[in-house]
Amino acid sequence: MRKLTTSDIEGLGESTRMVVAGRHPDEHFGFVNPPVVHGSTVLSPTMADLTGHTGRYSYGRRGSPTMGALEEALMALEGKESAGVVLCPSGLAAVSTALLSCLKAGDHLLMTDSVYGPTRNFCDGVLRRFGVETAYYDPQVGADIAQVLKSNTRAVFTESPGSQSFEMQDIPAIAAVAHAHGALVLTDNTWATPLFYAAHAHGADIAIQAATKYLGGHSDVMSGAVSANAAAWPALKRTWGDLGVTVAPDDVFLVLRGLRTLPLRMARHHEAGLEMARWLSGHPEVQRVLHPALPSDPGHALFTRDYRGASGLFSIVLQPGPEEAVAALLDGLALFGMGYSWGGFESLAIPFDCAPLRTATQWAPGGPTLRLHIGLEDLDDLKADLGQGLERFAAARGRA
Ligand SMILES: *Cc1c(COP(=O)(O)O)cnc(C)c1O
Repeated sequence: MRKLTTSDIEGLGESTRMVVAGRHPDEHFGFVNPPVVHGSTVLSPTMADLTGHTGRYSYGRRGSPTMGALEEALMALEGKESAGVVLCPSGLAAVSTALLSCLKAGDHLLMTDSVYGPTRNFCDGVLRRFGVETAYYDPQVGADIAQVLKSNTRAVFTESPGSQSFEMQDIPAIAAVAHAHGALVLTDNTWATPLFYAAHAHGADIAIQAATKYLGGHSDVMSGAVSANAAAWPALKRTWGDLGVTVAPDDVFLVLRGLRTLPLRMARHHEAGLEMARWLSGHPEVQRVLHPALPSDPGHALFTRDYRGASGLFSIVLQPGPEEAVAALLDGLALFGMGYSWGGFESLAIPFDCAPLRTATQWAPGGPTLRLHIGLEDLDDLKADLGQGLERFAAARGRA
């Protein structure tokens, strides 16, 4: 077997790349997968090697053949603009590490009002304590981000679409303005994954993944990753090292294993999610479906311009009804589990309300809202489960 070079790999299709990236069987006695290396101390053959750090690895916290394999595979996934990837023990740790790498006391951060709640808590808590001011902006701002930039704005954080409310963001327009101003652009790209949205190519200097979600894909691991372009990489790498952030080898292995089937799973989540979204759009108990791949969605033009697919996560706005009616819907579901997180093989449903979080925009959808994750089950079974739930909702709100 001939050994693939980095440029060979760049020329391959996506699914092929996800099969071969980060694998070096010749270094591991021919075994298909890299070994799961449990280790802290790395021995050096000579004093010169030890003090000169000549080895590929120097200490377990900072890297291992297992971590190296995942970093290499994630760089192949993020595309040629990625100058490096750091691994974090959760998606939230990836967010906080990324933010800490590009901010200091006295800086101003622009944060989308649709951002994942715990990211907001990090900004309003830790960053504020350390003298960084966060201002929230309308996710649909586009090039008008210019109007909220301040002389000390160092970073603009985006998340598209918002993972409950699904507003799409024009990241290329935001990036053009931010870069002209000397600010870095970060994006939490967990929803689309790098397969469906090439974050760096669309202007993000830093691209974040909660690998807990689709990359791991099996609801059995907490993990995160941050990819940076050449401009953002040195500070990211240094901050990651200074914080002492690392990931245990068994967790790295689970994410690597998940990555091999990512293209297959994402194609299925796209297809099944969109079919469910269409079906729900026509249901009398559903007022609105928040899914950017639907032509009726306000973010559809951006979606078709910039995205190569949709994942299995979207929201619905039900007809007006009391909480008991929503509980009647959810409590009786058999296939849709009720729980946080998403991106695994299984379907999920949760109620949510963005209103108490928002500070720059209003959230008033006009009815109870549910977020759905469409997993890998048969669609007919999922439709039957949800259809019966919507009948319970209709009956309960009729009685109210
Ligand atoms: C889940 C999630 C995170 C955090 O990931 P954890 O691994 O749960 O810490 C960050 N961003 C988004 C958009 C998420 O959905």
